[in-house]
Amino acid sequence: MEETRLIKPLLDKEYPMISHGDGIYLYDTDGKKYIDGSSGAITASIGHGVKEIIDEMEKQANKISFVYRSQFTSEPAEKLATKLSELAKGADGGYWSFFVNSGSEATETAMKIAIQYWQEKGVKGKNKILSRWMSYHGITIGALSMSGHTVRRARFVSLLEDYPTISPPYCFRCPYDTTYPSCNYLCAYELEKAINRIGAEHIAAFIAEPIIGAAGGAIVPPDGYYQVIKKICEKHNILFIADEVMTGIARTGKMFALEHWETNADIITLGKGMSAGYTPIAATLVSEKIMEPIKKGSRLIMSGHTYSANPQSASVALAVLKYIESNNLVEAAEKNGRYMFSKLLELQKKYPIIGDIRGKGMLCGIEFVSDMITKFPFKKEIDLTTMIVKQAQLNGLLLYPAAAGIEGIGGDAILIAPPLTITCDQIDEIIILLSQTLSDVEKELRIAGVI
Ligand code: PMP
Repeated sequence: MEETRLIKPLLDKEYPMISHGDGIYLYDTDGKKYIDGSSGAITASIGHGVKEIIDEMEKQANKISFVYRSQFTSEPAEKLATKLSELAKGADGGYWSFFVNSGSEATETAMKIAIQYWQEKGVKGKNKILSRWMSYHGITIGALSMSGHTVRRARFVSLLEDYPTISPPYCFRCPYDTTYPSCNYLCAYELEKAINRIGAEHIAAFIAEPIIGAAGGAIVPPDGYYQVIKKICEKHNILFIADEVMTGIARTGKMFALEHWETNADIITLGKGMSAGYTPIAATLVSEKIMEPIKKGSRLIMSGHTYSANPQSASVALAVLKYIESNNLVEAAEKNGRYMFSKLLELQKKYPIIGDIRGKGMLCGIEFVSDMITKFPFKKEIDLTTMIVKQAQLNGLLLYPAAAGIEGIGGDAILIAPPLTITCDQIDEIIILLSQTLSDVEKELRIAGVI
């Protein structure tokens, strides 16, 4: 294709031109068919071209697409906030919703509301947000400050707060070289050590992804981990923010991933699957406990964007939630997720470069190793993740590249997270294409003398 003026993620890469989508399949303008094995960036969770959503978009566009939130409220935005509070039943008194347009905006808003909460309560100086290494909370400077994603931070380190503080619950490569359960949650108790060092009087909140996505490849903490984290936060008067931008809205076989551990958060962020990619919308859900001093105090949230709470996006998100409920997609993610995992475990027997398979529901991570016994990753220069993702795309399977491995040395992981509407037969199609891809890549590695 001749050069155009669109800035793409990689200027040297050729991107196929999309034509249309249908369910779990995408088609480019050359007629090539792809399985959307990662729902884009874990976003298109009900598949492409769903008529109910398209009809709703048209219906709302015929009424009103945009009003400015400082001038009007709208029925779709009000209803969406009520619906989300019904769904996120964890905290006493339910949640309030602040709508934004991307996951980064949602986490950045969460950070600001957490800081504001302490100000409204008359507690001065609680401004820091603690977070974990191997995490991703967004690309804007505030959200990136909280993100322990070394590659994405690298260029901007001097602008960032030094928030990432503690080790991730990464059992495949335990940061303490121990094993669960005899580890006694050392990585969770690292939070308490950090709080004691920094001083709780400086800390507003701790943020974590219930299951680590882009920066880890679906890393699931051991049972009991979040109970320890929650206990430490409560003991030291620190808020707990759950970043459910990737894991929220049915993806992991629960409406919210924290439900797997019967834990709740003071603030929850949502994005991606909330509108399943039909429109940009994200949300910061704020529990009644956090809203209370704000309602009694300044009565103003000092954040927001022009497109916040626009009726067009809100109506789409409402329609997506309705679709998820009426098609029982939470249950489908759990059931079909189990099927997908069983098939991937079979594949692991065939390909020794598969080091670990992990995740929950329809959020599955595969980490690759150069040696099964030592678990040592492939050399950085090989860039195995890119090799696999590229080969898969050639074979007609879309995968999401994730980072994992040994910090500073590197590592390779992918996410498989197809639309929740996928059938078992279609999961089999993914497995066939993935197997083909791994076989192609292994051949390349053998020719290059790497394995
Ligand atoms: N938080 C998490 C957990 C994410 O996975 C992402 C996106 N990968 C973000 C925040 C940022 O979302 P966005 O790209 O929509 O800004």
